Amino acid sequence: MKHVPALGILVIGLLALALPYRVAGQTDPFVVQPGDNWAALAMRFDTDEASLRALNPHMNRTRQPAIGRLLAIPEGASERTGRLLRVGDGGLLQTAARQRISPWALATLNGRESPYAPTFFAPLHLPGEGTIRDLPPGIRTMELSAIPALPGQALGLRGTTEANATDIVGRLDGLDIAFATAANRFAGVVGTGAFYAGGEPELVIRTGDAPAWSQPLAFDKQEWVYQELTLTGQAAEIDQQARDEERARLRTLWTAVTPTPLWKEAFQTPINDYLEVSAGYGARRSYNGGPYLTYHEGVDFSAYAGTPVMAPAAGVVVLAEPLYVRGGAVILDHGLGVFSGYYHLSAVHVAVGQSVEPGDLLGEVGTTGLSTGNHLHWDLLINGIWVDAAQWQAQGLDCWLLEGIGEACVPPPTTG
Ligand SMILES: [Zn+2]
Repeated sequence: MKHVPALGILVIGLLALALPYRVAGQTDPFVVQPGDNWAALAMRFDTDEASLRALNPHMNRTRQPAIGRLLAIPEGASERTGRLLRVGDGGLLQTAARQRISPWALATLNGRESPYAPTFFAPLHLPGEGTIRDLPPGIRTMELSAIPALPGQALGLRGTTEANATDIVGRLDGLDIAFATAANRFAGVVGTGAFYAGGEPELVIRTGDAPAWSQPLAFDKQEWVYQELTLTGQAAEIDQQARDEERARLRTLWTAVTPTPLWKEAFQTPINDYLEVSAGYGARRSYNGGPYLTYHEGVDFSAYAGTPVMAPAAGVVVLAEPLYVRGGAVILDHGLGVFSGYYHLSAVHVAVGQSVEPGDLLGEVGTTGLSTGNHLHWDLLINGIWVDAAQWQAQGLDCWLLEGIGEACVPPPTTG
């Protein structure tokens, strides 16, 4: 008899432990999308925010659900359609008048006894088609190119707006998002580097004079290669001041954003005849036994000296000259904060200010600057941050962004 209460406590304890997981396990995995915050999800699944939070003990209660994370929704919940409207001013009566709905019908839909009761700024459910989401004011739909996001890659945002959107600004963890708009469409891009900490930074978007909208965005972990390199001779004697000056000068180029995309096509690989991709983007590098303080910022193609290097997409030449570290260098501005660079060239065949088309000759492979053999170092920056150029191609973000603002995109050439 003595052990029965102990058993009872054990069973209750196990039930308490198992309960949140049992409920979560019986619902379909639901991936949080932009605008799926607690208020919108509660409205959509006809429940309340407290119940949703209780169903999701793994989520941070003090923040909105992070885009890209899995969320449990109530078992057997049916999904309602419509629109979520924030009514900071005017309240239910004015909203009903503007939307040409009976105030009593709107009150009933929102579970209120009377349209004359105070609303306390609670969002209103408006009847209609579509998924209920709490998006930035004036934005009708919004999608991200990758959910969850990954460090070292470009991230695209695109969508549609209520009226012509010309004043969208945004930031991801303090990084500016470059936006292009056309009629009622928008597309924007931001890049995080290979050292980016990830986690769940805030995605912040502001339209016009409206208050800023924000939602956390989940990042997945990325695995990186670790390389130990040994520098000898001239390459070992790096003039740190010359190196810093070069970087500072390039930074002023990379942060000058041309507000519209200049490219019209999928980015081609800038070299046809190469031996191998000798180093990928993001590899952590230790020089002569030192700490891993840097990573490889581009993609290396080993090739014979004199091999043609071509523009991968349309753009404007913003730099064409020999540099201390990068050697013979060409930098292209592709617009929307996207820049590409071609380094260690033995010859440069373009001039600053020149517009280039995909396939145009930029220069020839060499081993100038701090280089230990003939190769092309190709890099890609978004708003001054190095991203993986090979991933940019693989993601198809070039066309995804153009299509986002209703522009045609020439697909990548078929290799045969
Ligand atoms: Zn390189």
